[in-house]
Amino acid sequence: MRFIHFIITWFFIVPIFGQHEKAVDFQKVEVKIAPLLSNQSIMGWGSYEFEVYRKTDSIFLDAVAMKFQSVNLNGRAINYRNSGRSIGFKAPKKPGTYKLKLSYTAEPKQTVYFVGFDDDLENNEQVWTQGQGKYTSHWLPSFDDMTEKAEFDLLFIVNSNLEVIANGKLSAKQKLNEAHGFPAPGMAKERVPKSRWRFKMNNPMSSYLAAFVIGDFDKQLTHSASGVPIELYYEPKDSLKVEPTYRYTTEIFDFLEEEIGVPYPWQNYKQVPVRDFLYAGMENTTCTIFSDQYVIDSTAFVDKNYVNVNAHELAHQWFGNMVTEQSGANHWLHEGFATYYAYLAEEVLFGSDHMYWKLYETAKTLHNLSENGDGEALTNPNANSLTFYEKGAWALFLLRDRVGDIAFKKGIQNYLNKYAFGNVTIDDFLNEMERTSNQKLQSFRSRWLEDEEFPWPDVQKYLIEKNASLKSYFTIYQSGGSYPDLVDTVIRNWDALASDQLKKQLIKDCSQSLIRKDFIEKLTNESVKVRQAFVMATRTIPEDLRHYFEEFLDDPSYLTKEIAFVKLSLAFPERRLRYLQDLENIYGLPNKNIRLVWLTVALLTDEIPQKGKGQFYKELNAYTNSNFSFETRQMAFEYLSQINALSDSSILNLIDATNHHIWQFKKSSRNLLRSLAKEEKDRVERILNGLPSQEQLRLKKIITP
Ligand SMILES: [Zn+2]
Repeated sequence: MRFIHFIITWFFIVPIFGQHEKAVDFQKVEVKIAPLLSNQSIMGWGSYEFEVYRKTDSIFLDAVAMKFQSVNLNGRAINYRNSGRSIGFKAPKKPGTYKLKLSYTAEPKQTVYFVGFDDDLENNEQVWTQGQGKYTSHWLPSFDDMTEKAEFDLLFIVNSNLEVIANGKLSAKQKLNEAHGFPAPGMAKERVPKSRWRFKMNNPMSSYLAAFVIGDFDKQLTHSASGVPIELYYEPKDSLKVEPTYRYTTEIFDFLEEEIGVPYPWQNYKQVPVRDFLYAGMENTTCTIFSDQYVIDSTAFVDKNYVNVNAHELAHQWFGNMVTEQSGANHWLHEGFATYYAYLAEEVLFGSDHMYWKLYETAKTLHNLSENGDGEALTNPNANSLTFYEKGAWALFLLRDRVGDIAFKKGIQNYLNKYAFGNVTIDDFLNEMERTSNQKLQSFRSRWLEDEEFPWPDVQKYLIEKNASLKSYFTIYQSGGSYPDLVDTVIRNWDALASDQLKKQLIKDCSQSLIRKDFIEKLTNESVKVRQAFVMATRTIPEDLRHYFEEFLDDPSYLTKEIAFVKLSLAFPERRLRYLQDLENIYGLPNKNIRLVWLTVALLTDEIPQKGKGQFYKELNAYTNSNFSFETRQMAFEYLSQINALSDSSILNLIDATNHHIWQFKKSSRNLLRSLAKEEKDRVERILNGLPSQEQLRLKKIITP
């Protein structure tokens, strides 16, 4: 909860000593935000309370590409310097409490995303933020350094028909009129009625965790066993998906409070799905934002659900938000811990087989990387996310195994309580663990945190000890389980196998060798996921087993249906019409996996007359426009280019996508445009010629890099 950039440009750097580590500490930030939706900009009025402990030269706030209309200190206008990256002013000479007031405008190029403003759909407009990695200082003068923590109270002025969701508790909401001095100068152009939303936080946090969402949302309210209000947001069109989307939310919440042993540190919690989000989820304090690709129906739950992300982001409310890393070299304390506690939550909900086999999968990946010389230390601030998340979680499993449950839990509690709302290093954590366990943890530190190598033998030993089905699996291989022995062993012992996870793994290992009548008949009563593993492992479908495979089209899984449909349609083109009929009007997962592949196959089916195909061609091409999520658009582009069916308007949509804020989508769109420009040179040139010259210039740079 302390820090300020002492720097640089036109004064001296002040040596750090004295009672307070830092000369200046920001304590409270109150900001009023009025997003101007029509031109995607932000007007803001910030009020910052800070304490000067001792003499320093200047004080800075990070503020990227902002314009300041006024800057006042304790009610008086002051001189300031706006570098385009930060705003700085001369520090007051005397120690004491001061109030800085700023009014500013910003047109954020990142961090605030305006989605759905350039399509022809109504009420799908959303504004949302992503602070971590993108910097809150693009929309709010604040502190890029995580060690400066302050209490953030956000206030919004937004069109009355929209919902605002932000950190903290909504303390007041009112419609505005002239009596409130509204509209303020500069806002006069927006004539829509506005409302004011006031959010209140009780505890300090780092700036990267400040967040808001604006859009058309409803919510359901629930409570944890301890009484914390939990708000579950959704778009009105998704009201029937609330239950499967948020399934187990209170169970996860109650479990984490119990398991961590420290009460949830904030006054409330909310979760909001948004469109075209950058990641799976982001743990903004009290206000997790996540991808709307997790907004699912009950059928989708088996293939894609929010449970893991839900638990991961919630665990961050303690590990990351309440205690925050001092620097990137301590990132394990965020991601390793959130991943670890999400595993524990999944174990409670889905059983330990589920958890240990998932852990086994990540261990294999980490082991392979390590074998190839690509292992990374957890203390490396530039390690990749697999290291921070999965190796990080593994380190905690092995640490707990070493110090024992009681010492581990006590150490976690002491660590959280001691550093609550402050910043931490790996040493701070290990010191607490050493104290409660009465063990020296230097060897753990070097093996798990500092070594680049992944400790595979320790991990294998651990898995064999903890999980019976993994133990059997390792035994099968140790006793020389190889083809065709393995296939025979599997078929002979199948009925005695108790673990679905083991069954899935064996199917994967044997793959095509299990495509036999005596085995396929055993699958009738297997779970959806075991059956799915079988369809996935199948490379070719023999004619005499066709009707067994056709049954997979009825499985209650969108993924199984899709895979079975594709494999059957390829193997038996003469039966495509029947398969198409089976899956007609099923859209599938949130990315519309089934509908897109259905349309593609329909366009390739000779029995469908050209006239009927016209409509399918139109529909598949329509999925490339910005009415749809980038996941759907990306798939539609891929299918259409594979069957050479991109329409001119899809190429225009592709051009639009070359500027998308999701870098993976931007990249794939640019690659596709590049190859189209080669294969269909004249056509692409003709389309480009119809665009404004500046846009042509931009695209030519993409096409000829
Ligand atoms: Zn995380």
